Amino acid sequence: RGNQPEREIPFAKPNSLTKVFAVASGKGGVGKSSVTVNLAAAMAAQGHKVGVVDADIYGHSVPRMLGVTDRPTKVADMIMPPSAKDVKVISVGMFTAGNAPVVWRGPMLHRALQQFLADVYWGDLDVLLMDLPPGTGDVAISVAQLLPSAEILVVTTPQLAAAEVAERAGSIASQTHQRIVGVIENMAYLTCPHCDERIEVFGSGGGQAVADGLTRSLGAKVPLLGQVPIDVDLRVGGDSGEPLVLSEPSASSSVELRRIAKEL
Ligand code: ADP
Repeated sequence: RGNQPEREIPFAKPNSLTKVFAVASGKGGVGKSSVTVNLAAAMAAQGHKVGVVDADIYGHSVPRMLGVTDRPTKVADMIMPPSAKDVKVISVGMFTAGNAPVVWRGPMLHRALQQFLADVYWGDLDVLLMDLPPGTGDVAISVAQLLPSAEILVVTTPQLAAAEVAERAGSIASQTHQRIVGVIENMAYLTCPHCDERIEVFGSGGGQAVADGLTRSLGAKVPLLGQVPIDVDLRVGGDSGEPLVLSEPSASSSVELRRIAKEL
């Protein structure tokens, strides 16, 4: 937009009706993007108008997981987001050449986020989900500055070592005065396909530990919203761009994700 003044972010206006959730995690690989995509698809299927900002700089995987193949287009001076499964998506990856790694630094990231929020034609959204990079980085701080009303959703695994890191990522909210809407424990257990035994691959208790720790440090109740099991089909759905909540809504991981989506 050259030297024009920055456009106002519609979701930051006091009368905005869009709920914004920033999905955060301590470590990478805990399923933050998988959870984001399935929640988004479930909410859209439940009749809500949904958008996703994929701000995971190094791990941007939302378009692939949702099966978005189109590129954003420009109309006048606005960016039109492509969509799939009735979810509008803008991703960092759509603005980088090929698979080139993104080496944007803080100020550039801030500017990119500002554009994703203000210069993209989102229309009237009920919900905007933002897939943040893991950890307590520049992006989380930018989100807090650009959208102070965004609520934070923390994704963690049951592993206590991961929980500590997740709690640190979440506790940034106490500095930015943002609300943490709750914690989702992903990869909570695996049900043996032969004997139905629950195998706690990554141990147990991490989700509750993060919720309790954040409740203590924020002085406000942070609930454990749900526990999503390990499910081979959920991974396959991510790889093939067919979110499991849509292709297999009765799978136990889908049931849990759809329940959480409804409660948010
Ligand atoms: P993050 O966004 O935290 O880096 P991803 O969503 O990319 O994590 O997930 C990491 C890998 O784990 C992906 O291959 C994904 O398909 C897989 N995965 C995530 N959640 C589950 C789950 N509940 N069951 C099985 N595989 C999962």
